Amino acid sequence: MTAVIRHVTLLGATGSIGLSTLDVVRRHPDRFRVHALAASSRDADMETLCREFLPRYAVMADPDAAVRLRERLGAGSGVEVLAGVDGLCQVASDPAADTVMAAIVGAAGLSPTLAAVRAGKRVLLANKEALVMSGGLFMEAVRHSGAELLPIDSEHNAIFQCLPPAHVRNLRAAGITRILLTASGGPFRNMPADQLATVTPEQACAHPNWAMGRKISVDSASLMNKGLELIEACWLFNTDPGNIEVHVHPESIIHSMVEYADGSVLAQLGSPDMRTPIANGLAWPERIDAGVAPLDLFAIGRFHFERPDMQRFPCLGLAAEAFSQGGTAPAVLNAANEEAVAAFLQGRVRFTDIPVIIEQVLCRTPVAPADSFDTIFARDSEARQRAREQIRQQAV
Ligand code: NAD
Ligand code: MG
Repeated sequence: MTAVIRHVTLLGATGSIGLSTLDVVRRHPDRFRVHALAASSRDADMETLCREFLPRYAVMADPDAAVRLRERLGAGSGVEVLAGVDGLCQVASDPAADTVMAAIVGAAGLSPTLAAVRAGKRVLLANKEALVMSGGLFMEAVRHSGAELLPIDSEHNAIFQCLPPAHVRNLRAAGITRILLTASGGPFRNMPADQLATVTPEQACAHPNWAMGRKISVDSASLMNKGLELIEACWLFNTDPGNIEVHVHPESIIHSMVEYADGSVLAQLGSPDMRTPIANGLAWPERIDAGVAPLDLFAIGRFHFERPDMQRFPCLGLAAEAFSQGGTAPAVLNAANEEAVAAFLQGRVRFTDIPVIIEQVLCRTPVAPADSFDTIFARDSEARQRAREQIRQQAV
C-alpha cells in the first residue's frame, strides 16, 4: 500500500529539531514533501536547505535576512521568500500544507504555532514554551479547530505512546494513577551547590546525552526544562502536578512512564535521539525508519533513578508554583526565564542568578486570568521588562 503524502511546513528549520526533522523527511521521499521552511535569520543555512528540499515558501523572521535569502536564491529558484511574523503565520496556516512542525524556540513560536492550530493542522509540538505560556487557551483552540496535536518533546511523546489513544486527555478513565516524568539531571547533576555560581555557558550547553539548541540546554542544566515539561504534560494530558512525579534518570533511555491502577508501569525506551519522536509524530499512527541506532541494553548495563534536588535546582519548584497559581503566571515564568537564560548565555549574569531573577519577576507581576492571547502577550512583555531591570541589577 502506498502511503499518503504529507505536505510539511517546518517552523524552526535551521535548529536542532528542524535539522533532525529534515533528516527523517529525507529518508522518506515517498511520504513527505516540504511545503515551507521557516527560521529566524540564518540565510546561508536556509539557502542550503531550500536547494535540497525545494519548498514552495521560505520564511525568514528577520526581514533583512529575507532580503539576503532572496538574493542568494535568485530568480527561477521556485521558492517564494516571505518575511516576519506574518510570513510565519501564513505558511503555518496555508491550506496546501497538512502538517506543521512547531520547532521555533521560545515565545516567538506561539503566534505561528497557534496559526497552525487554528487552521486545523496536524501540529507536531516541539515548542513547549507556546503551551506553557497559554495552555488553557491553546488547548481550547485545539478543541475548537479539531487540530491534531502530537507531542514531540521526548518525554511527552513517550507518555503519549504509553496511553490508550482514546484516553489521552482522560487519564482517570484510562485507569492511570501516575505519570513518571524522567529527567537526565543535566550536566550539573552531581555538582556541589557552591560551584554552580561559576559555571560557564559552554559547560551548561555540554549536555551529557542530548545535542540541543543553547536555550533548552541551559534549561536542562537548571531543571527549568523539567519545570516547563511538567506544565506541558499537565495541559497535554489534562492532569495536574500532583499526578506527575519527576524521576531523574541519568542514562536518558527511558523517556517517561505511565502507571496504571493495576500496578502496571508502561515505559517507552530508546536511544536519546529526537528523530524517534519526530518520526513518530510525522507518520502517526504508522511507524517508519528514523535512522536511529538500535538500543543496546547490554552496552548500557544499568538504569539509575534519583529524586530531583529542589534546593540546588529551584527552577523546577518555581515552575510547579507558577502552574498552581494559574492565569498568566506560567507566561511570566517563561518570559523571565527566556530573558535570564539569554543574559546568562551572554555572560551578563551567573547561572545561579537565573532562578533569582525569575522569582523576583514572578513576585512583582500580578497574576491575571489568562482570558485572551492579548493578555498573555501583554504579561509576557511586562515580565521581560522587569526581568531586564533585574538583570541590570544582578549583572556580574
Ligand atoms: P535551536 O535554537 O536549535 O533552533 C531554534 C529554531 O528556531 C531555529 O531554526 C531558529 O532560526 C528559529 N527561531 C528562533 N527565533 C525565531 C523567531 N523569532 N522567529 C522564527 N524562527 C525563530 O532550538 P531547538 O533545540 O531546535 O529547540 C526548538 C524547540 O524545540 C524549543 O522550544 C525546545 O524547547 C524544543 N525541544 C527541543 C529539543 C531538542 O532536542 N533540541 C527537545 C525537546 C523540545
Ligand atoms: Mg524533553
